[in-house]
Amino acid sequence: MTTKEINENALIAQEYKNLLRNTYLSLSAADVKLIRLAFETAVDAHKEQRRKSGEPYILHPIAVAQIVADQIGLGATSIAAALLHDVVEDTSLTLDDIEIMFGETIAKIVDGLTKISKLSKDKRISVQAENFKKMLLTMNDDVRVILIKIADRLHNMMTLEFMPEEKQVRIASETLYIYAPLAHRIGVYNIKTQLEDFALKYTEPEVFLDIEEKIKGNKEEREDYIENFTNQLQSHLTKERIKFRTEGRFKSIFSIRRKMQLKNRKFEEVFDRFAVRIIYSSTPKQEKFLAWKIYSIVTDHFQPNPMRLRDWISSPKSTGYEALHITVVGPGGKWVEVQIRSERMHEIAEKGYAAHFKYKHGKQDEGGMELWLNRLREVLESQDADAVDFVKEFKLNLYASEIFVFTPKGDLKSLPKGATPVDFAFSIHSEVGGKTRGARVNGKIVPLNYELTSGDQVEIITSETAKPNANWLDFVITSRARSIIRTSLRTEEQEIANEGKELLRRKLRQMKFKFNDRIINALVSYFKLKTSLDLYYRIGIGTIDNKMLKKFASEENNRFYQFFRRRPSDKPKQKEIGDSQISSFYDMLVFGKNQETLDYTLSPCCNPIAGDEVFGFVSINDGIKVHKSECPNAISLHSNYGYRIVSAKWIDSSKGFFTGNIRLSGIDRIGLVNEVTNLISNAHNVDISQIHFDTENGTFTGEIKLHVRHASTLYMLINKLEKVTGIDKVVRD
Ligand code: MN
Repeated sequence: MTTKEINENALIAQEYKNLLRNTYLSLSAADVKLIRLAFETAVDAHKEQRRKSGEPYILHPIAVAQIVADQIGLGATSIAAALLHDVVEDTSLTLDDIEIMFGETIAKIVDGLTKISKLSKDKRISVQAENFKKMLLTMNDDVRVILIKIADRLHNMMTLEFMPEEKQVRIASETLYIYAPLAHRIGVYNIKTQLEDFALKYTEPEVFLDIEEKIKGNKEEREDYIENFTNQLQSHLTKERIKFRTEGRFKSIFSIRRKMQLKNRKFEEVFDRFAVRIIYSSTPKQEKFLAWKIYSIVTDHFQPNPMRLRDWISSPKSTGYEALHITVVGPGGKWVEVQIRSERMHEIAEKGYAAHFKYKHGKQDEGGMELWLNRLREVLESQDADAVDFVKEFKLNLYASEIFVFTPKGDLKSLPKGATPVDFAFSIHSEVGGKTRGARVNGKIVPLNYELTSGDQVEIITSETAKPNANWLDFVITSRARSIIRTSLRTEEQEIANEGKELLRRKLRQMKFKFNDRIINALVSYFKLKTSLDLYYRIGIGTIDNKMLKKFASEENNRFYQFFRRRPSDKPKQKEIGDSQISSFYDMLVFGKNQETLDYTLSPCCNPIAGDEVFGFVSINDGIKVHKSECPNAISLHSNYGYRIVSAKWIDSSKGFFTGNIRLSGIDRIGLVNEVTNLISNAHNVDISQIHFDTENGTFTGEIKLHVRHASTLYMLINKLEKVTGIDKVVRD
């Protein structure tokens, strides 16, 4: 053996010892034996390999196992699997070998890890999103696969400097896009923070170095300040026999960067507040009491800002986070954020999920995995969604701050900020959500897109005939609500299409056509649709009616006849786009949350076309001008005239759902409003979005905004309303 080899072997042995010494869970003799076998197997399998850095390859799996054991806090099974994670992919050992030596569980985890590393390394975001989804699905098998993968990624990020430059940025972006959000969702916050900082170093090196430099610059000042703060409290806390320690709160470079970007602030403005953690020991029983005792001592010395008290102990965040946060005027008149946490709370905040289960179940094993998986299942329910949308939603839910609302019985529910009564309804139960007709917040009826705020008491009004509505998708923000609504809409669309298909079968028979693929294809292309489902659906809702089918029949007969005459000059005529034709493409522009149809002009600067992502700008002289979202003028319009921007989107009008306005007037009588609302509520596929009645001297005028599938529904409703006693005029705006 050369000296180099001897040194390397000593290093490997040392790292292995460190691994065993620093595990979060204590290991039994059997655990150590299992880990030893995995270690020896991996050493042997990787013995010819080296990393890009020149180091023996085995140091990588050991490092990953260390992260798994210490920072994530998993047990022997995961530690062994981490040691073996690259064996099947990179060496001659097979999965069968692993299964024979280590059993089914470890083999399955290693299999999952091998599959993930084979996912395409494509730069395109849609491919990455697809990979992300696949990874979440793996979680259904065993969440340990993802946790070990995250540890693997963390170590790869730590050693990214040895990679070729063009790979660095790709791997770093992928880390920000996929792994950091996953780590956050799974509750390994420490690792998430490290991943973000390591990635930022490669995606925006100048920004990273600049912030890093500035943080170092006032490190001493910060430490002095915290010491000063602690000294003032020390004797008082000790007098109350509270055992505690303080630490300065570590703010990650990435989070500073995000704050600077989001709020368009300078470093100094983001970083001006000092933060101190008071971590105290306590028995489980005393925890809450002690937190408030410390609160009381701190606020005896420093003036608190009452607006900035957050009690995450009485109502923990949905991630399980507990602590008491206050902001006080500290020494030198500076704002200081003080986080008061017990050792247990601190461990959960730092370590996340492993600590959670250690405390909750008192078991030193990897049990409790099932419970954890159940919490993640909600995310997986949206697995049918388009992958890019899915990741968008996933992240939206991830970083959204939380609000707390009450059920009518006084139970507390936590929802992401921006949640609506519909999100609330689905969080109670999918049945409740699906039958939502209206909502009362603090006793008052509100529109379904109302934004809930903390403290609201929310009551859902349900009805047996109510169904999820496509326009709910424009305002719900929880992925749970979104996925259930989507599924239900798809089912409904299928049902309508089935009815439409039967209807079409009858109509074709009457017109002496056979119901076969040829004629269906002819119909699909005649109406410029994409699939037969589109066709059946439109026949089902009545967008394609009898008259249009007859027109098709006569043209078709004509063509057929000409075909037999075979006159070359008489080729089938190019079909004209007539008023009877429907296109399944976006053809109608609607504005605002209520999807209203308004007058507009398309702006010549970016020439938006149907289907583009657009927004409306209310100009002073020319009404609404529509720009593309990526129009070069968009940023300046948004930042200078934000109040004049209206949201806009293209919809497929033949698929229905737009807002219609009805105005009505007549003679007032008792029960009239009730009768009108009942009539509308009982109509199918109609939703009231706003209703307003005025009465004066025995007459009334009313204005109703409705979501309907198709204009014909609106006219049918107008017909019915006209027949109500007392109403003498109903018009559509
Ligand atoms: Mn690896």
